Amino acid sequence: SVKVILDNPEDLKPRAPIVTVMGHVDHGKTSLLDYIRKENVIAGESGGITQHIGAYGVTLDNGQKMAFLDTPGHEAFTAMRARGAQVTDLAIIVIAADDSIMPQTKEAIAHAQAASVPIIFAINKIDKPGANPEKVKEGLAQMNLLVEDWGGKIQSHDISAKNGTGIKELLEKVVLEAEILELKANPDKMASGTVVEAYLDKGRGYVSTILVQAGTLKVGDYVLAGKNSGKVRAMQDERGKEVKTAGPSTPVSILGLDGAPQAGDKFNVFADEREAKQIAAKRMQLQREQTVRTQRH
Ligand code: GDP
Repeated sequence: SVKVILDNPEDLKPRAPIVTVMGHVDHGKTSLLDYIRKENVIAGESGGITQHIGAYGVTLDNGQKMAFLDTPGHEAFTAMRARGAQVTDLAIIVIAADDSIMPQTKEAIAHAQAASVPIIFAINKIDKPGANPEKVKEGLAQMNLLVEDWGGKIQSHDISAKNGTGIKELLEKVVLEAEILELKANPDKMASGTVVEAYLDKGRGYVSTILVQAGTLKVGDYVLAGKNSGKVRAMQDERGKEVKTAGPSTPVSILGLDGAPQAGDKFNVFADEREAKQIAAKRMQLQREQTVRTQRH
């Protein structure tokens, strides 16, 4: 059994916000994530190019940190939520200024609201001749979503994900919004968190990108993630740099699991390797039984 031990308030330390980018197709989610990544994640010594590992950490000029889930679209967000994972602290919802509030914009807003995740609007593509950010804000006002320059409380910023206009300021607003949340976690315990993505790499075996949400993960720890388990053989950050430890709000890719867990699976570190293996085996067994049942019906 996984024991839930509540933290003493004095053990809780501030942690960086974890941010998701959502919005309608083609409004610029990928471009925004790529721009932030390119500007803030310097290419590591191993390879020169930064890898897509499903999440990355960013340090702003003023030293503020934040982590981005690098899987745009609310499919990832809802898939994770469906598995009970509450990973995101803040949602940036991208809306193209040369378009209007579209169905997937509304869905993204509804998803963030359902998860009680504060929204920051990024009104994108302001470099385009046909851009009309005020029209977008008017559309939001009609949905009872008043942004700051319309007298409301919701943060928004006009940006261009193409040439970078306004992105620094957008991230500063993320920091401000995050401060209100007073995000905290206890770094001094065995790590737990959520799987972001996992795949089989020809040379390295199963590579899983995980987001540490509490505690500190260390190389050599025994991890149970969904139906998979294993000892962490190595860890890398988003620059492909080897790291030995990863604290709260840190995404890392880990080597050593015996399979690929699913996005949204929780992970925990176990002091007792045998116990972790037993739980993993039981979960496998349950899944097999479930598969047999669905095949019969
Ligand atoms: P996503 O589907 O929301 O991830 O949108 P993408 O990031 O793939 O962008 C869709 C298209 O819009 C691509 O052709 C981008 O190059 C373009 N695009 C994205 N952001 C901007 C922007 O700020 N300005 C301009 N002019 N084009 C943009």
